[in-house]
Amino acid sequence: MLRIVAMLTALAGLLNATPALAWGSQGHRVTGAIADQLLKPAAKEQVKQILNDFDLTGIDLRKAAPWPDCVKAVVRHDDGRFHYEVDPDHLEFEVPCTPFNSARERARMVDYAKRNWDTCSYTPDGFERGCHNTFHFADIAIQRSTFDRHFQGTNPHDIVAAMSACIAVLQGKPVPPTFPFSLKDKKDALLLLAHLMGDLHQPLHVGSVYLGGNGKLVDPDIDHKVDPDTDTIGGNAIQDSVAAPFQTINLHHNWDDIPGDIGDGATSELMDAAKSVPPSQGAPESWPVAWATDTLLVAHDAFKGLSFKPTPPPAKIKWTATYDNHADYLQASDAIKRKQLAKGGARLAELLNTIWPSP
Ligand SMILES: [Zn+2]
Repeated sequence: MLRIVAMLTALAGLLNATPALAWGSQGHRVTGAIADQLLKPAAKEQVKQILNDFDLTGIDLRKAAPWPDCVKAVVRHDDGRFHYEVDPDHLEFEVPCTPFNSARERARMVDYAKRNWDTCSYTPDGFERGCHNTFHFADIAIQRSTFDRHFQGTNPHDIVAAMSACIAVLQGKPVPPTFPFSLKDKKDALLLLAHLMGDLHQPLHVGSVYLGGNGKLVDPDIDHKVDPDTDTIGGNAIQDSVAAPFQTINLHHNWDDIPGDIGDGATSELMDAAKSVPPSQGAPESWPVAWATDTLLVAHDAFKGLSFKPTPPPAKIKWTATYDNHADYLQASDAIKRKQLAKGGARLAELLNTIWPSP
């Protein structure tokens, strides 16, 4: 569920980059694995056919879901050429990407990144990181209670828009020309969708806090624009006060991390929870917005029991979060994560079973 690995790599030392992608890939694998088990025969066959082309075999939603984070290894050089580059200092980043390490699949990732690089400008650390990095999130202020395009922190290339584009392609429809997404086939769309369903259920991928220099909440919707000085980048710019004496860990990272006992597959506990997720209402085209609203409400809880203050110099991260009660917060976040993983997996299966209904 990592949203800015390129930034993390560029700012090594600013954020704790090493475990984040690995833990992030675990959450994605879990949502994919839950969905794999809930697919009905027609959808299961479609998923198998779409993901296993040419010499690829055994790719299911669990293996597919980390793919858009693997794409973050594609870099653009000054001469304009794009390359997939393995970071020799972080070979663990490659582990969830090994199903896609053939020349053909690396070329697909490079092509996807290239086609989706300049469709918007994304410079979180002053460097152009490629528009595709923005497809993973929205940053709606937690003062809001619904996902609405009128609110700050949404944009035409955010997670909800990207999911809508994926759904259209999987339904056999063209991506609307005004959408800034280049999905060349159903495989691009399914690889992206399987990932985004995980991200959409990580509360800090939808809801965010905007903070003043004093650490108090500010409301970007009152001014109808985001002041970059108040942007916590989905909690990436908020240090965890408990971790602070030992290492630099931010709030977004903590929420990407999933409970250790889950591993990277579907546990029976999560399958039970997934089977009790209520069905989504209305047409599938409306589901990404409804699900984003649901997650935004969960984000309200994710920020409960926290207060913020500016980090004293020499600050590596601008703000620091302190806990009313750390043990209570960890217990509550553990329960939220399990519930959200189950919802993400259940809804991914629900969506694919609706696109490809079984008789
Ligand atoms: Zn992501």
